[in-house]
Amino acid sequence: MRILVTGGAGFIGSHFTRSLLDGRYVGLEDCEVTVVDKLTYASDRSSIPATHPRLTFVAGDVCDRRMLGDVVPGHDAVVHFAAESHVDRSIDDPTEFIETNVMGSHLLMAECVRSGVARVVHVSTDEVYGSIASGSWDERCLLEPNTPYAASKAASDCLVRAYWRTYDLDLSITRCANNYGPYQHVEKVIPKFVTSLLAGQDITLHGDGRAVREWLHVDDHCRAISLVLGKGRAGEIYNIGGDIELTNQALAERILQLHGAGWDRVRYVADRKVQDQRYSLDFRKVQEELGFEPQISFADGLAEVYAWYRDNRQRWAHLYPETASPVEPEERPEARRPAPVARTAAQRPSASSIAR
Ligand code: NAD
Repeated sequence: MRILVTGGAGFIGSHFTRSLLDGRYVGLEDCEVTVVDKLTYASDRSSIPATHPRLTFVAGDVCDRRMLGDVVPGHDAVVHFAAESHVDRSIDDPTEFIETNVMGSHLLMAECVRSGVARVVHVSTDEVYGSIASGSWDERCLLEPNTPYAASKAASDCLVRAYWRTYDLDLSITRCANNYGPYQHVEKVIPKFVTSLLAGQDITLHGDGRAVREWLHVDDHCRAISLVLGKGRAGEIYNIGGDIELTNQALAERILQLHGAGWDRVRYVADRKVQDQRYSLDFRKVQEELGFEPQISFADGLAEVYAWYRDNRQRWAHLYPETASPVEPEERPEARRPAPVARTAAQRPSASSIAR
């Protein structure tokens, strides 16, 4: 079996690639892996092996039709992670998001049809649904993306699905909650909070800090993708949720506690121009059809991630040039009491109340 992974030098794609090379997915233990990645600022080539007997690495752009025509033929499956993924950057300038996320997905699917790829998984996000005050989205909910990033992913979801309906390309789409784990770019909220503290800086909370996000460890996300790749039905969408919803304020408090710091290390800053207030997925379909269950508790996963950034300073210290020598975790956690925070909703209301 030969699997092509786009965006395999990024945060999630590299985890999926390492897991494939480690033989962690049933039925895919011996697969050959080709990674295609443009190596943008968000990538980290060292997050996957420099050489491996079952890995081929191609530095390439999914918008490059000729490269796709050379590389895609001969693969049995494609898992499409490559994307521009940072919401703030999409608000500053949506252009690259449209090019890579929409045009790149179109060109990749077209090449999959042309070269007869047997199975495709398109990796998408809960952000395509917009924002939900109560209840949770299931896969039939309306797409109401609020940011250029989310809109570009929603557009690619629709386009990719059309490749199934129009050209019989056997594909499934996954829509996952916020991921966290090692190797995530420092611009994303959890690495940003952790490395800011480790670099001796304050952490910044947007707006009132009450925006709610649902979290899933990257290892659980990638295992779910492997299940969808193996057993997902053609033309179907699978939400992949976590078991925890947290306000950003509550998230900050947990990280402050891991660092042994207090609420005096938090600064509030102006909110984003567009801030989705809450994301929440109903993911019973992937649970019931494919037997997926998250396995890593948020407490364990967050502690692991904190330790990973603490122990891998060389990966991020250059992003804090003003900090000559990053400081150690603070010593007396009891000296600083975090301020109370908003709820940490773990209960997931049924989707039946949601307008479609
Ligand atoms: P990332 O930004 O860490 O990695 C993206 C990778 O894609 C990078 O290695 C980058 O170099 C590569 N890339 C970008 N443009 C490319 C192009 N034109 N051609 C080839 N490669 C290109 O992103 P991530 O967090 O790993 O997200 C991966 C996928 O998962 C994305 O499609 C994203 O929308 C989706 N997703 C992410 C999350 C999350 O919380 N991070 C949640 C749900 C879904």
